[in-house]
Amino acid sequence: NNRQQTLLITGGAGFIGSNFIDYFTKQYPDTQILNIDKLTYAGNLDNLREVDQRPNYRFLQGDIGDKAWITSIFEEYDISGVINFAAESHVDRSIEDSQAFVESNVLGTLTLLDAAKKDWEEKGELDIRRFHQISTDEVYGSLGEVGSFSETTPYNPRNPYSASKASANFFVKSFGYTYGMDVVISSSSNNYGPRQHQEKLIPTIISHALEGKQIPIYGDGGNVRDWLYVDDHCRAIDLIYHKGHTLESYNVGGGNEQTNKDMAAQICSLLDEFVPEYRQPYSISSYRDLIKFTEDRKGHDRRYSVDDRKIKQELGWKPAVDFHEGLKKTMEWYVSEWKNKQTL
Ligand code: NAD
Repeated sequence: NNRQQTLLITGGAGFIGSNFIDYFTKQYPDTQILNIDKLTYAGNLDNLREVDQRPNYRFLQGDIGDKAWITSIFEEYDISGVINFAAESHVDRSIEDSQAFVESNVLGTLTLLDAAKKDWEEKGELDIRRFHQISTDEVYGSLGEVGSFSETTPYNPRNPYSASKASANFFVKSFGYTYGMDVVISSSSNNYGPRQHQEKLIPTIISHALEGKQIPIYGDGGNVRDWLYVDDHCRAIDLIYHKGHTLESYNVGGGNEQTNKDMAAQICSLLDEFVPEYRQPYSISSYRDLIKFTEDRKGHDRRYSVDDRKIKQELGWKPAVDFHEGLKKTMEWYVSEWKNKQTL
């Protein structure tokens, strides 16, 4: 029966959303989850193969920006909370054309906020049903060699993707201040782990290496990102959703700052160890030989680093996955997916 309380998850067919649903449906078998996803080029129901069998999980295809449809979901289901992962997520695409980023990331978020507000206001529960916005450290802009972003660092987005995510956060906060809605925001650093779309850095490094193609790294490869294993992020979201304070933002970091070139070199070394055989046709002694520096991304942010003492101190979270272990697990997952594709 649809009137059972249901947690609405958006964008759950993507990378982080699918890992989160996998985690959450196991962790809370008595909580009903409704996943809505537009299934853009980035959404893949294959990410949810196992989850799909679980009785507390349902999926509906649609757009978070489709007002009539979103309203009908709040009418049909008793939505107890929203965790909004749905977004256009690739910076390079936003540099090519940012229209879809405004539609999904800004207007989509606003449509969800409006529908939730209307429904929860009618129920007299606007201040106890929670809207959790999944955001990124990119909203803070770019850092030099030193320093970290804290939750009070002013937003200074520098590409259309981060501008759209920052804008969404402002709307989320405004619904908290203006209407008394229970909202919370989490801003995480770069995630890594299974099920990320092929276009992103780590899957690209792995597939290009295995296929003997040049591994493209922007600029001088010195751009620094902090890497967070996706499972650690999922536990952080669980904590923030259940225990975070209303109207607050929480930064979530992995404590693993890596330059892009070091990241590529480490993955290549793991591949050298794990699957040396695919090097043979290309007469190279290491997959590292395939790394090629390319013209830099426009407006490429130099360094991100998050100060996540707040979630550690207030909510007792800390990352559990060792970076090398996480990277090894990630590499093994993409290699096995790649092998499966070869045999199809
Ligand atoms: P992703 O691109 O892998 O997945 C996004 C999902 O959202 C896809 O399944 C897509 O079909 C869906 N979607 C897009 N537009 C939609 C719309 N209008 N309506 C419904 N569904 C729609 O992205 P991801 O890496 O899993 O990121 C998820 C969230 O986390 C995003 O909000 C992103 O900004 C944020 N984030 C990502 C990272 C990271 O490292 N990947 C870091 C910090 C924050």
